[in-house]
Amino acid sequence: MVPGEVCVLGAGIIGLLTARCLQGRGYTPTLISNTDPRSSSSAAAAGIMLPTFPFHPTSTEFKRRLRWMADSISYLSKYREGQFYTTVRHVEFFRRGVAEGQIPADWLFQSGIYDRSALVTLNFDVDGFGEYAWLDVPHFDTVSLLEAFYADFLEAGGVHLVQTVDRSTVESVSASHVFNCLGINAGSMFGDHTLEPVFGQAIRYPPSRWRFGLGMGDFFVLSSQFGFYLGSPFIRGDGVFGPKRVHYEDLSKFLRTTLPKAAAVVGLEFDGSQLGPPLETVSGIRPFRPGGARVEVERSGSKLVVHNYGHGAHGWAAGWGAAVEAVTKWEGYLHGIQGLKGPRAAIEGTSDWGI
Ligand SMILES: Cc1cc2nc3c(=O)[nH]c(=O)nc-3n(C[C@H](O)[C@H](O)[C@H](O)COP(=O)(O)OP(=O)(O)OC[C@H]3O[C@@H](n4cnc5c(N)ncnc54)[C@H](O)[C@@H]3O)c2cc1C
Repeated sequence: MVPGEVCVLGAGIIGLLTARCLQGRGYTPTLISNTDPRSSSSAAAAGIMLPTFPFHPTSTEFKRRLRWMADSISYLSKYREGQFYTTVRHVEFFRRGVAEGQIPADWLFQSGIYDRSALVTLNFDVDGFGEYAWLDVPHFDTVSLLEAFYADFLEAGGVHLVQTVDRSTVESVSASHVFNCLGINAGSMFGDHTLEPVFGQAIRYPPSRWRFGLGMGDFFVLSSQFGFYLGSPFIRGDGVFGPKRVHYEDLSKFLRTTLPKAAAVVGLEFDGSQLGPPLETVSGIRPFRPGGARVEVERSGSKLVVHNYGHGAHGWAAGWGAAVEAVTKWEGYLHGIQGLKGPRAAIEGTSDWGI
């Protein structure tokens, strides 16, 4: 396939890893996006790999997410430990049976990842939360990694065109093979209106002496050598980019009032007044698709479009696994293998592809 025949729309974590995967298989994709990767929603993420997927653990989607997460951890861990990633002990508080994003805690235990023996039931509530469980999880420095992927992409001969695409201009993109990794804009451009914006915001502080993650409903803290990260409301339906004052105040209140109480419960003597002044407030739109992420091939006009979007609050956890799956499906399509009967078969769903 000649250079310029394949392009990747979107330079967030999904687009960059898809482009890197294509390069790894010998293709020369062009990256098209209207922002630098460091300005994407992906750069606002905490970079924690938690299996709090809002799908039942027996569902195909949950299992697929777990597989993608394992693939992503293994790929991202090739980057240097200490510089790009570390491991943190993360404590998740539950409202006596309900976890972040209204996921029943039981689902997490059923997944086998959270160990039920780690569940601690309190005989009092901390702001309505009466149980917690802990887990050691990988934590990736999202900004450094985006910079590293982007540098690797360019070093391998990749070209990035800074350009906005819409429904009409996508047809004029010169490539005939288009990977759609446009985050929250990925759906509407190709007629999928099931994609929902879920706004999130975080405040970054300089690194502190604490090393832990702590999740409590909508809020969470991640403190490592990469910095102290305080996030993030899950505001469904808010597709307006940019940090908002109201969330800054909510986050600051959580830091001052609830967090010290919760930290004390798990044996941390946390004192927020020892944090340096905030470095920056960041925000992003999580592209959530209630029916599950869309990773499939579709013919659209004169283009062969490979969709890779809808990863919601877990784009980093899904990133590499989903990229590999998208590229593998596309190659399968090109080579007419895996029992594919024609273009419609790929559009109809995922079962033909054995996931
Ligand atoms: C506060 C917060 C914390 C998070 N924490 C975590 C976490 O700890 N772990 C985790 O796994 N996930 C986390 N996430 C979720 C994760 O950030 C998302 O799932 C991920 O960013 C989605 O990546 P993406 O590449 O699909 O989208 P994006 O990062 O939004 O990238 C989309 C790209 O498409 C480009 N684009 C869009 N429209 C156009 C257009 N019309 N023309 C040209 N270019 C366009 C954009 O410029 C951008 O480059 C968090 C999200 C937020 C907001």
